[in-house]
Amino acid sequence: MYTSLEHYIDGNWVKPSGAKSQDVINPATSKPIGALGHVSKGDLDRALAAVDKGFKTWRKVSSFERGKILRKAADLVRTRANEIAKVLTQEQGKVLAEAKAEVLSAADIIDWYAGEGQRAYGRIIPARADGVRNMVVMEPVGPVAGFSPWNFPVTQAVRKIAAALAAGCSIIIKCPEETPGSPIGLVKCFHDGGVPAGVLNLVYGVPAEISEYLIPHPIIRKISFTGSVPVGKHLNALAASHMKRATMELGGHSPVLVFEDVDPEGVAKLMGAMKYRNAGQVCVSPTRFFVHEKVYDKFVGKFTDIASTTKVGDGLDPDTRMGPLANPRRVNAVETFVNDAQEKGAKVATGGKRIGNQGNFFEPTVLTDVPESARIMHEEPFGPVAVMLRFKETDEMLTRANKLPYGLASYAFTTDAKTATKVADALESGMVTINHFGIALPETPFGGIKDSGFGHEGGSEGLQVYMQAKFISHLG
Ligand code: NAD
Repeated sequence: MYTSLEHYIDGNWVKPSGAKSQDVINPATSKPIGALGHVSKGDLDRALAAVDKGFKTWRKVSSFERGKILRKAADLVRTRANEIAKVLTQEQGKVLAEAKAEVLSAADIIDWYAGEGQRAYGRIIPARADGVRNMVVMEPVGPVAGFSPWNFPVTQAVRKIAAALAAGCSIIIKCPEETPGSPIGLVKCFHDGGVPAGVLNLVYGVPAEISEYLIPHPIIRKISFTGSVPVGKHLNALAASHMKRATMELGGHSPVLVFEDVDPEGVAKLMGAMKYRNAGQVCVSPTRFFVHEKVYDKFVGKFTDIASTTKVGDGLDPDTRMGPLANPRRVNAVETFVNDAQEKGAKVATGGKRIGNQGNFFEPTVLTDVPESARIMHEEPFGPVAVMLRFKETDEMLTRANKLPYGLASYAFTTDAKTATKVADALESGMVTINHFGIALPETPFGGIKDSGFGHEGGSEGLQVYMQAKFISHLG
């Protein structure tokens, strides 16, 4: 399916010289669609020399000029959106409409950072002595090593690339080996948009080998990782031991609070669509539904209807509403979570089983009566499973909602302003959205607390993580 799967080093599309390669598999058919070569140490050394050189050039380009180049890249992403989206669906599985929306949102992210780079203001601090100017100047931190995952192969990569480049940094990004074609399509837009050689480099290989080599390397000044909590903790420890700045966008286990004063069926409709988007492989996917006992039956009834009528199939089929999971690991993990919950007493309201024996399909699933001891109550399912829980008393429910080490996104539905303020303050998470799904826009900060990580992508906060403050005091 691919024309080629090349790496991008120092402004050139190159065949990697690593000894290994791997098949890329279409998750809807389980059939290979391409072979991806791995980077060698020599290739990484070339990428490091390029990113070092690229930084020296790029930091001197004005943010105004950088913005112009980034906007050209954004326009190319829009022009090529259909083509990139089709590749994305075939390698990752999500339905074509979601893939297209992802690619178009990448263009918006680039555009937004193109402008935000021009607003990287410092400040003047009033001096104590006549003739002194105290200034804080924002500088790019330097060459970045980025690691992006397979669930949103385009937007997870572009959030790192666009923010780093807008700040004046250069970057080597390791994109996901399971979904390499759509990030290549994205990077081509930056290349064709005029990003100078060395500023952006793209590699693939064995993730642990690449991160162990790049993170300690003296040329790299900043790490940005999106992925699971255990890998994030490991990479953050490595970064810390080499005094490197890091941004960690890790997993979540989002609670959804549904109060008695809302239309339960309307909320079920909205959140049902959000739950099964990308087959639930979303770090901010709504997972634990705390529903007030007065509206519980109506909410669960409607949600279950939505789940059981969500058409599952190949993402290229226009009738499909949920595609396959991205890889067989996820199907096994989701099946294990559901079986474990059932063994411990949970009931399956709908779904609960894998579909067929070709492709990584799993039924949209709703679990009720799930005991605290079930693994899915503590571990991120990262799949199409919703857990329904009743509550009567708000404070007791908030304690349950906050008890996990995760703290990424939380959702609440209420028409009562006092309740809204109370839960917005009490929820332990980096993002809280009330009465709608209002997160993950280019201009708003996206990030977690607790084990979900730290640092932001999106918003002016997402630019700040690629900048460092320098204090300059000048007399005369
Ligand atoms: P995993 O933990 O093996 O990998 C997660 C991601 O980290 C992948 O993209 C992988 O390539 C990368 N990775 C793994 N080890 C690495 C290393 N040593 N150095 C650099 N990168 C490394 O698990 P998986 O099976 O690929 O994904 C499953 C879990 O990952 C999910 O349960 C979910 O919690 C998490 N995940 C989170 C996000 C997110 O958006 N935060 C995205 C994808 C996966």
